[in-house]
This record gives sequence, C-alpha cells and structure tokens, in this order.
Amino acid sequence: MGVPLRQQIAVGTYLLKQKLKGVKKYPMVLMLEPLFRCNLACAGCGKIDYPDHILDQRLSVEQCMEAVDECGAPMVSIPGGEPLIHKEMPQIVAGIIARKKYIYLCTNALLLKKKMDDYTPSPYLTFSIHLDGLKERHDASVCQDGVFDRAVEAIKLAVARGFRVTVNCTLFQGETPEDVAEFLDYAMELGIEGATIAPGFSYERAPRQDIFIKGKDTKNLFRGIFKLGKTRNWKLNHSTLYLDFLAGNQNYQCTPWGNPTRNVFGWQKPCYLLSDEGYASSFQELLEDTPWEKYGNSSNPKCAQCMAHCGYEATAVEDMLQHPVKALLTSLRGPRTTGPMVAESTPKWASEKLKSPATLAGIPVKVE
Ligand code: SF4
Ligand code: SF4
Repeated sequence: MGVPLRQQIAVGTYLLKQKLKGVKKYPMVLMLEPLFRCNLACAGCGKIDYPDHILDQRLSVEQCMEAVDECGAPMVSIPGGEPLIHKEMPQIVAGIIARKKYIYLCTNALLLKKKMDDYTPSPYLTFSIHLDGLKERHDASVCQDGVFDRAVEAIKLAVARGFRVTVNCTLFQGETPEDVAEFLDYAMELGIEGATIAPGFSYERAPRQDIFIKGKDTKNLFRGIFKLGKTRNWKLNHSTLYLDFLAGNQNYQCTPWGNPTRNVFGWQKPCYLLSDEGYASSFQELLEDTPWEKYGNSSNPKCAQCMAHCGYEATAVEDMLQHPVKALLTSLRGPRTTGPMVAESTPKWASEKLKSPATLAGIPVKVE
C-alpha cells in the first residue's frame, strides 16, 4: 500500500465513527469537479463534450468549501476538466487543507510545472497525474504527441520538491498485461507514492466508443497484470478486495454514494460517471432523493460494464469491514489470478425482458 499510515488512520477513524453512529450511507471521497474545461481532448473522455457556456462555468472557492463541509468525506478528489486551469485552485486547495481533508488533485500535468509554485508540499495534498501508459500509449490515449514527456518532467519536479505524487492510469482496448507491467515498473522508478489503475468507463459522451474494454476481457487483463505483479513491488492505491474484484473474484454491487460528485450543475445523481440522471441541490437531497435501486451493474444497462473505483472501492471497503479475515487473507496472497471467476448476477433488465414478449434481432420470441 502506498497510502501513508497517517492518512490510513484518519480514514479508518472516520469509517469507525460512521459504524458506531449506525450511518448506512456515508461518503468516502468527495468528487469535486469545479470545471469541465480541459486543455486536452482525450478519446475516452466523458467530461468535455459540453457547449462553451458550460465549459466556461466554474465553482467558486465558497461553493467548493460548502461542498466539502456539507459532504464531510475525509478525502477530496478534484478531477475535471483540468483543475489547474481554474484560477482560484490554489485557494480551493488551501481551504481544503485547512479542513484537514486529504486532496487528490487530478491533473494531466501540462500546466503543473508552470503552476507548481502556487502550492506548498503538504501531507494533505497529492498531485494525481494522468498517465495511461508509456510514451506511445499515453500520447495516443490523450490524442496529442509530447504529453507523456511533459507529464514525466512535471512528476520528477514535483517529487524532487517534496510533493506527494501518484499516477492514475486508465486502461483501454489493446492493452496487454506485459505493457501495463512495464508501465507500472517505470512509474514506480519515478519515485511516486503509488498508482491507481482501472478500466475506462464507457461514457456515452466519449468521442470514441470502440476503445473501452468490457466484461470478461477486463477481468482477464487484470488477472494477467496481477500475475506479473507477484514478483514486482508495485504500490497500488486500492484496497486488496477491489483488486480481487477487478480480477473477477468478487461479485459486487456498486456504492455510488461512497464517491458523491459536486460539479457546476449541482450534486450529480447517482455518481461521477452518469451525467444524464439529474442533480440535487444539496448533499442531503442527493442521499434522500436519488433512486439508488435503479443503478448498479445488475439494475441498469448503463452500468453493465462499470468496474470503476469510484463505484466499487467503497463496496470493497465495506466488505473488508464486514469480513476482515477474508480481507486479510486476500491481502496476504494477493488477488487470485487462476481458477473460475465468480458468477455475475443476472441483470434485472435482462430477466424483465425475458418475462415479457422478447425480441431477438427484431423478431418476436416466445418465452415459455
Ligand atoms: S485530461 Fe482528463 S479531463 Fe482532460 S480531456 Fe483528458 S480525460 Fe478529459
Ligand atoms: S455501476 Fe454504479 S458507479 Fe458505475 S456507473 Fe452505475 S451507478 Fe455509477
């Protein structure tokens, strides 16, 4: 685990308090999106396809602090868009640090070298740098040459200046376990604290739809990566049970309220990934008014392929609290990379379809 002990204790204490208070739905990470504007246009991005008048909107410092206070999560992830474009980002970061929350400032790093002096190293601040692979792969993923080199230069500088730095890597079609292993080896050599790694979510808004890995292919890819990882010393910033889920060994339903999202439209229902389901005007309203039962991989076709950490990491943590011995054993042996995968639940929409007159390629099918 790359996460420092101090942060693990703070998050563990928060979780314990929620349990003692009997809170059923609690947030772990606030996804604070203060803008959608970005200086890149990646093929798999589901955040930048808005008209200019939306891309020009910003959450103010006050709105960001209100969201942090209202939500109360111990960690705040600031994705976007590109957060370093926001002129008041240093004040937003300072305000969150003053509240002793752990921030992951997610950036493609193009502006990081120029803006680094606006920030001071702190145990509460981590630059989470977007890197989807080695040079060729990353530059193809972000659709621009030279981005990998600039990101790596910024990572080295931030590490040298004493900042906490992680990389966040999204995997798409065409990845091989060997390529990902080589990339993780390289990333660890940069002196980063750890890496997050997850399959790309098939955003309806993404410019390209053919790049997302799906279903069993995702699980087989992760099994291949973890098999190679058994002899490597990678620091992956995920719970072991989430990694075991990626490898096809846990049948989880998502916990979307674990990573609630506040952006320029309000509190997004139900999660960071689905953007056409409406907004709440407060965190409390989000918790109370979202029809949570309508979402999740067995309840909603839009969720069918989702294995994202913003949906399932909180599920894995809850499972760890409920089954500590299982979590400990998984942690000692690592994610299982052989043997049968766990059976997935039958999607409700599929079984509902089967109950009513079904169609196969447009031809009505009689279901007995
Ligand atoms: S850097 Fe991030 S926000 Fe910007 S286009 Fe790429 S995926 Fe989207
Ligand atoms: S499965 Fe959960 S986290 Fe994923 S898109 Fe659906 S609601 Fe969101």
